[in-house]
Amino acid sequence: MKFSTKVIHAGQEPDPTTGAVMTPIYQTSTYAQTGLGEHKGYEYARTGNPTRTALEACVAALENGQYGLAFASGLAAEHAILNLLRAGDHLIACDDLYGGTYRLFERVMGRYGVSASYVTASNLVEYEKAIRPNTRLIWLETPTNPLLNLVDIQAVARLAHQHGLLLVVDNTFASPYFQNPLDLGADIVLHSTTKYINGHSDVIGGVVVTSNQEVYEELKFHQNAVGAVPGPFDVWLTLRGIKTLAVRMKQHEENAISVARFLDEHARVERVYYPGLPSHPDHALAKRQMRGFGGMVSFQLKGTRADVDNVLRRLKVFTLAESLGGVESLVCHPATMTHGSIPQEIREARGVVDTLLRLSVGIEDIHDLLFDLEQALA
Ligand SMILES: *Cc1c(COP(=O)(O)O)cnc(C)c1O
Repeated sequence: MKFSTKVIHAGQEPDPTTGAVMTPIYQTSTYAQTGLGEHKGYEYARTGNPTRTALEACVAALENGQYGLAFASGLAAEHAILNLLRAGDHLIACDDLYGGTYRLFERVMGRYGVSASYVTASNLVEYEKAIRPNTRLIWLETPTNPLLNLVDIQAVARLAHQHGLLLVVDNTFASPYFQNPLDLGADIVLHSTTKYINGHSDVIGGVVVTSNQEVYEELKFHQNAVGAVPGPFDVWLTLRGIKTLAVRMKQHEENAISVARFLDEHARVERVYYPGLPSHPDHALAKRQMRGFGGMVSFQLKGTRADVDNVLRRLKVFTLAESLGGVESLVCHPATMTHGSIPQEIREARGVVDTLLRLSVGIEDIHDLLFDLEQALA
């Protein structure tokens, strides 16, 4: 099946008990057993729930993977992956990273003796140099957050496998519509389904997909043993959202291209970060590794933090809020919001300055979005 068919049908056959076309919300914690060890595949809902199974199968299909696992949040999904490591292990991550991921590495995993090194996202030589005898995995985001740099997944996968390391890709920003890291050699792909996959800003969730059976079995063990699973209603909302993923992503991208071009020509804008602009340093890589450029646009305003505050107060259609990937347009100030937990000097050295704004371009009418930006910048 092609992508637009998979979002609607993969894992979502009519319900076997009633024929219900939509996957029902199995709001139950436990399942009747007919005899000792005799049941229909479900015993207890932390271990498994048919609504969750449908989402897990659907996202696995969208990422061209064998196995999917759903979690209560994107960070819970990340934590499950990090449970593959042991005390004393080391990981390498790109430095332009979601703030919560950095916090999880440093302030949670660090306490359990897992250490992390950070390398310039697009510099392959730095990845190789950072490998130590105790390195177990490489962790990437591409496009990165918030500067939308790209990492060559195929090249890093080759390097990882030469050294016996696992490659993990956080595919939240691209969505499976625009990029499939497993096809490029990654071992594990993860999403915060809170973002594009659910797409309606009304659920927190995460998923992990892999085709490596050994990795899957360990992750599945942790999903049940730790228990950070999503409830059936959240999973059902996500399944409802996922059905329009393809049409939403097309519109997000069309609007984002227009917004990026508009900002690029605006006198008050210092610099625009969007992989779809030919001037973007990774434009050629984006064309090769992605099927489109996505809906996120970042830009640096000319002026001071006070000017940024003025623009934010004047925007009407773009809402100042954390998160991304919903149907509505959002604007975020990474330095104080998503990346507020990163120490200032580290943050600024990575380009996340006080005058940087990140847009999650929604699917509203493009004229309203451009007019809103125009009046706020004026
Ligand atoms: C939001 C986000 C996460 C964390 O997901 P939650 O669902 O908020 O826990 C991880 N990675 C990226 C790139 C994100 O945008």
